[in-house]
Amino acid sequence: MFDLSPVMQAEVSSWTPREQSMKGMVFATKLVVRHALIWYAVRENFSFKTEHSNLERLMVSCEDNSCPWSIRAICCKGDNVWKIAKCKGPHTCDEIQNAHDGQMIGSAFLAYVLECYIREDPTYKIKNLCHVALADLKYEVSHYKVWDAKQKAVAAIYGDFKESYAELPHFLSKLCVISDRHPGIQVVFRDISRDFLQPPMTEHRYCLCHVCDNVNIRWNNETLTNLVWRAASATQERKFNATFKLIENVNWDAHQYLKDVPKEKLALTFDESYRYGVMTTNVSECFNGVLKGARSLPITAMVKYTWFKLNAYFDDRRNKSIAQLNSGKKWCKYALDIFMRNKARA
Ligand SMILES: [Zn+2]
Repeated sequence: MFDLSPVMQAEVSSWTPREQSMKGMVFATKLVVRHALIWYAVRENFSFKTEHSNLERLMVSCEDNSCPWSIRAICCKGDNVWKIAKCKGPHTCDEIQNAHDGQMIGSAFLAYVLECYIREDPTYKIKNLCHVALADLKYEVSHYKVWDAKQKAVAAIYGDFKESYAELPHFLSKLCVISDRHPGIQVVFRDISRDFLQPPMTEHRYCLCHVCDNVNIRWNNETLTNLVWRAASATQERKFNATFKLIENVNWDAHQYLKDVPKEKLALTFDESYRYGVMTTNVSECFNGVLKGARSLPITAMVKYTWFKLNAYFDDRRNKSIAQLNSGKKWCKYALDIFMRNKARA
């Protein structure tokens, strides 16, 4: 449940307006007053209109002109808080005539309502946020409005997309990017104005799968492709050189082609440990499953989310393996299942 508690009654964790008169209540900002009033209106099934709104006061009244309900909030300068100074009412407007369409629910208000959920889990699906909104507000809110609200809430939590991109370099230290050699990616890494994508902050390495695919497409020779794989994944320079020499024997053109690829980007033995032994982007394809949902977030949120999610993932796996070891199991369940399947087949 979101918190619209008047600031002076902080112990009230979820304030229900209906239960008490609003007069005298104090809120942190005018925006919070407005959100509290919207919530009240949504719950009570009426709409209000703004009569006055400036730095000093906010006055709203029932949309039905013949109804006397109105509220005046003022800014208490010394304390820098907003106080409900006057309440007139009750409503005399006809509830049946009122539109039960929740028209007071704008995306800014909705963002406010949904922010705490999104803060907890930024990958919350729009569909599920629609259910949350329905549960909290008792109104069916459109998919689009929830989507819009999520954008706003994400911006409130993580900063907007532009700010987030500017913040990104702080999160990158000793990053290694393994990718294919798509021209679009090459352009980004060649652009030296993005200094955080240059060594020593970032090292760019090529995915060996993609390199081998390219060699195979060009020369269609399995032996050659296998040699390229062996050379690039060799752990000793001596082995790399020997295999590279073999490539020259098998196909001179391919050898020339590979010679033009910077060695440190291609071969494990010249990598200086940036790749942690990872030769392909396969590992990221695996993690894609784990990280699904992070994709729509601003870049820094994505990096943060990736960091925490992977930590949680490794922690979970570690605890599971420790538990299995402690219970005297020599093999993990995954491996054991494979053994059993093979045994059954044998
Ligand atoms: Zn009214």
